[in-house]
Amino acid sequence: MIQEIKQQFPNNIQLFIKREDLLHPIISGNKFRKLKYNIQEAKRLGHTTLLTFGGAFSNHILAVAGAGAEFGFKTIGIIRGEELENKIHENPTLAKAQELGMQFHFVSRTAYRDKESSSFISFLCEKFGNFYLVPEGGTNDLAIKGCEEILTSEEKSYFTHIACAVGTGGTISGLINSSTEEQQLIGFSSLKGAFLSEVIRNFVVKTNWSISDAYHFGGYGKVNDELIQFLNSFYTQTSIPLDPVYTGKMVFGILDWIEKGYFPPNAKILIIHTGGLQGIKGMNFALKNKNKEILQYDKD
Ligand SMILES: *Cc1c(COP(=O)(O)O)cnc(C)c1O
Repeated sequence: MIQEIKQQFPNNIQLFIKREDLLHPIISGNKFRKLKYNIQEAKRLGHTTLLTFGGAFSNHILAVAGAGAEFGFKTIGIIRGEELENKIHENPTLAKAQELGMQFHFVSRTAYRDKESSSFISFLCEKFGNFYLVPEGGTNDLAIKGCEEILTSEEKSYFTHIACAVGTGGTISGLINSSTEEQQLIGFSSLKGAFLSEVIRNFVVKTNWSISDAYHFGGYGKVNDELIQFLNSFYTQTSIPLDPVYTGKMVFGILDWIEKGYFPPNAKILIIHTGGLQGIKGMNFALKNKNKEILQYDKD
């Protein structure tokens, strides 16, 4: 579904949002796209277990747990942070994933950094038996193939600019591959660091894209009062809920770019709502603990 964001923009600019967040109640947005062909491949190879990695409030962890429940796989989540083991009930993401049948293995931050080493993988094989490994954030060639299905042919011919939030770069790589040469793709990085363009270059051949890292708000998962207030007022004006980790920062960036005149006259911009709304509860929990303003909307 596509919605127009009806505000008075300068230079006859039009802004639309594609609601990928509404694709599935649990396997949200781009994670649905990224898992689709991985699930098919796991089935084809005869696997019965999916194993993946993620942080405390990971959209990807919950999506894999949901996909396992729906498509008949056992799921194992390797979770960053040993301290979380006794706090699952305080963490809405992990509690929900557990409810969907996911089994956890908690590791220290140091061990987590080495999660893709062959010694750690063989340890996991010994502990859990055979599994289909889905990488952290879900990005691999099959995930990108799934993300190439986000844009319809009408969207490819109508829109001049497509924007999305970037974490590992898989989603924007799929969008780039399926775009037309006339379109410009803009990725808004949700994390600090200039390495993302390198990663994306491994997956794409086109050059009609750029990454902005001016709107990460201090880094991955970091927010400030300005962002929270922006998200609350965006929701009041449009009834569109955005998540504070990815889509919220991207939409903040797009509106800032429009205001600064970075788009040509008559630009038709499509932003991709990649989902992530499950993370609002966890974020509000953390904000409340710090006596900060919270997000006034929640999925439930
Ligand atoms: C995971 C995620 C992203 C980042 O996608 P990548 O393919 O890792 O770049 C963007 N938005 C939301 C809501 C996500 O959950």
